[in-house]
Amino acid sequence: MTHPRVDAVAQEARDAIASARSSAELEQVRVTYLGRQGALTQLLRGLGALPAAERPAVGAAANEAKRELEALLESRLAAALEGERRVRRESERPDLTLPGRRPPRGALHPLTRVHDEIVAIFAGLGFSVAEGPEIETDYHNFEALNIPRDHPARDMQDTLYLSESTLLRTHTSPVQIRAMLARKPPVRIIVPGRVFRRDVADTSHSPMFHQVEGLAVDRAITMGDLKGTLELFAREMFGPGSRIRFRPSFFPFTEPSAEVDVLCFVCRGGGCRLCKQSGWLEILGSGMVHPRVLTNVGYDPEEVTGWAFGMGIERIAMLKYGIDDLRLFFDNDLRFLRQFA
Ligand SMILES: [Zn+2]
Repeated sequence: MTHPRVDAVAQEARDAIASARSSAELEQVRVTYLGRQGALTQLLRGLGALPAAERPAVGAAANEAKRELEALLESRLAAALEGERRVRRESERPDLTLPGRRPPRGALHPLTRVHDEIVAIFAGLGFSVAEGPEIETDYHNFEALNIPRDHPARDMQDTLYLSESTLLRTHTSPVQIRAMLARKPPVRIIVPGRVFRRDVADTSHSPMFHQVEGLAVDRAITMGDLKGTLELFAREMFGPGSRIRFRPSFFPFTEPSAEVDVLCFVCRGGGCRLCKQSGWLEILGSGMVHPRVLTNVGYDPEEVTGWAFGMGIERIAMLKYGIDDLRLFFDNDLRFLRQFA
């Protein structure tokens, strides 16, 4: 059953369906012709205004066109949706040829790096690593190292005491005592570890920091051996052109004692801000083990001699990497730490 009034609208709707490119466009066509305000709907709704003779023919034609268009829309919509699902599946399919996502990787802390480097240098010279407790006795930390209770040298270090006779070690030197008490010479050890002082944190102080201690005891060990060893260390640590110098100093547990400077690797001795115009950078303290310390651990100072040195890992790291604030090592600020990745 057809009717010219209906046919015009129906044909227009068929054309619109044929040219719709997506499910959204088909839905738009449905609204335009079959929706509440749609052209065909309006036509059916307006039947009452037609002459009575025309109504049945127009009504039948419009209903038929409506069913036809609904069926047509339904099948086209199903096809469009299926096509769109296929496109989406394709675009969402993982591309197995893409490189994987890298998990974020940590990096060694600058202090760990310098620690490992120092240990590796001395391990190559035949030193073995020794460790000791961070809570020490007054005896191992002071007495045995020739620093008796009334010795003025105790003022040099502000100590965190835990009791009358126990404390947080102020240096790694007590491990020298423990190592020598535990074995007979020769001794060749390197002692890395944390030490504690009653200090307020600022750019160059921290209540906790790291030291590396070195000790060599054997027959006929001389200060020349110490100098040769430290020269080699400086070249390995700060570059092949490095030079060192000894300056007389005082420590209760060594005699003679010397501060060791390395030639400033920024200005090569000419004077700059890093070396405060002196051309040299202080890196450690050292000396020949005091005969009384050897006696304290049961060694015979007539038979064996030895030397020891101690350096701050933070100090070495600050010089090596040009870091001007000690606190940066302990703040755990990723912006700082990532520079060492
Ligand atoms: Zn300099």
